[in-house]
Amino acid sequence: MAGLNPVGGYEIDVLVQGYPGRSLYHGWLGWSTIVLLRGHRRVVLIDTGGFNQRKLLADRLSERGVTPGQVTDLLLSHSHFDHTMNWTRFRDARIAIGRVELEWCLQQPWGETEVPELYMRELQAWPGLRLLEDGEEVLPGITARLAPGHTPGHLIFILRGEDHDVIFLQDAVKNRAELVSRQIDMTYDAAVATATVEMVWGLWRSRPGSVVVPGHDLPMRLEDGLPRYLGERRAALAAWFSDNLQCTTEFELTADSLKSHS
Ligand SMILES: [Zn+2]
Repeated sequence: MAGLNPVGGYEIDVLVQGYPGRSLYHGWLGWSTIVLLRGHRRVVLIDTGGFNQRKLLADRLSERGVTPGQVTDLLLSHSHFDHTMNWTRFRDARIAIGRVELEWCLQQPWGETEVPELYMRELQAWPGLRLLEDGEEVLPGITARLAPGHTPGHLIFILRGEDHDVIFLQDAVKNRAELVSRQIDMTYDAAVATATVEMVWGLWRSRPGSVVVPGHDLPMRLEDGLPRYLGERRAALAAWFSDNLQCTTEFELTADSLKSHS
């Protein structure tokens, strides 16, 4: 993130921007945030995206000269497919997920939820697995906090910097609308989810200049009490509506280009 690095001895690189949208006709969209941290002799990924981001993630790492085998630590915020399914690409890393989350997701019925059942079952037995507890220091300067509401065992990761923190929210608070409204979409318990949003606000306000990184939106910093986006949103689709492959129609999926409903 330009102008913010390094924080707590880590270079922070948002490899993939999460997107704050849902598909109206094609089910779960799953465009989620993936972050690379480098520092303290570690190469750390926070979440992995889903199959749809598999090639993209490989390209983004390659552009930075990072091979999958060099990733030393993989931190998984929660078990949903759009955050976890590429753990198999980083099998040499230490793979960390919350103990509560893993126990919960293994109980979910097959074929019905956003949990990739077999990937999680395989992860449970993986030798490099590390189960995290609430409040545990995961890596130097990085603490995990239990943040339930989206899933019961969701973790956020707090990177302590010299003068400000970076809080990796992922789906605990997925986007700016959830942050500001303090309401969470897709929750099993609205009161639990709202308590987590309040906890996040408390953490965010506790150190001026701190940054949050949601799972489906751009990073934000507080300015005069309001979240301000860091960076520029990029999201678009190209479609073949003609009779050849050369001609495509492109759709920008940003606030400037589309009408909004309320
Ligand atoms: Zn999720």
